[in-house]
Amino acid sequence: LNARYQQEIGLPSQSKCGERFKFMVNSGLAIELEYTNAQYTDGVGLYRTEFPFIIRSQFPTEQEQIELYQKVLASYPAKTVVMRTLDVGGDKALPYFSIIEENPFLGWRGIRLTLDHPEIFLVQIRAMVKANIEHQNLHILLPMVSDLAEVDEAIRLIRQACFEVSDELGVSLPKPKIGVMIEVPSVLYLLPELAAKVDFCSVGTNDLTQYLLAVDRNNARVANLYDALHPAVLRALFQLGQQAQALKFPISICGELGGEPAGVLLLAAMGFRRFSMNSSNLARIKWLLRRVELADLALLLPEVLCCHSPKQVRLQVQRFLEQKQ
Ligand code: PEP
Ligand code: MG
Repeated sequence: LNARYQQEIGLPSQSKCGERFKFMVNSGLAIELEYTNAQYTDGVGLYRTEFPFIIRSQFPTEQEQIELYQKVLASYPAKTVVMRTLDVGGDKALPYFSIIEENPFLGWRGIRLTLDHPEIFLVQIRAMVKANIEHQNLHILLPMVSDLAEVDEAIRLIRQACFEVSDELGVSLPKPKIGVMIEVPSVLYLLPELAAKVDFCSVGTNDLTQYLLAVDRNNARVANLYDALHPAVLRALFQLGQQAQALKFPISICGELGGEPAGVLLLAAMGFRRFSMNSSNLARIKWLLRRVELADLALLLPEVLCCHSPKQVRLQVQRFLEQKQ
């Protein structure tokens, strides 16, 4: 079956009716880039910078980060690479930076931590913009944003880092596009303001599901309650998609749901056109989407949005797929 999917990897990313999609990859380790058929994707939709931090025994220096980011940006020349600023805390711990909290997922995570330590943030942004001088394909993504002041402060620091670097090197720098992760429920209600402040947004369905349902995504005891196909999550995504389209705010999906067949079908029906996924899902998702008509998906969506449980949602999607065979 895999070989069958792989056969179509080079064909256009479009539905049967000809609607174009953008498929990008999620990455974190440089080695993954070697396994990815870079020419068949539209770039990197999520580069998780925390992995190179986690595998070291101390914070990587600016120079180490520059070399790493250069490698990543050079793997996708002329294609977008979305680099997310350090997203530690929660379940991702740095061995050399201890955080002990009772509720780590509601605590010092992502942008909260780096704004409290601007020296970490500034070094990382300086490294990113220096690495970007050659290929100019960098986009910067901010994780765990929950309010607007965080965005203002991050933009201010990014401007400061760009100013410092251009002053230091005596060159004018390309201005990277800046985006925000939609993964904390509060920002679902701040979209117009975000659209006015940043260039794009990317939906982290993993954390958005966790926070909407108040279910720890790593706790086996409540694992049966964690489901991105929960009707509440799907309705939130539907409203988010509608609003982003009305605002003409570029939006993509980078959580796991965007690499799963049922998820991609429903998100496509909601109007989402950009998906970033693990490269292992790419061939299968492209194959699937090339076989569906958006008009058919448009009939499935209202049925799914009325469902009362994830189980019912799965049954609806399964029925749809069986009819297509
Ligand atoms: C997410 O939360 O959906 C996401 C893509 O980020 P991470 O899985 O790295 O938290
Ligand atoms: Mg996340």
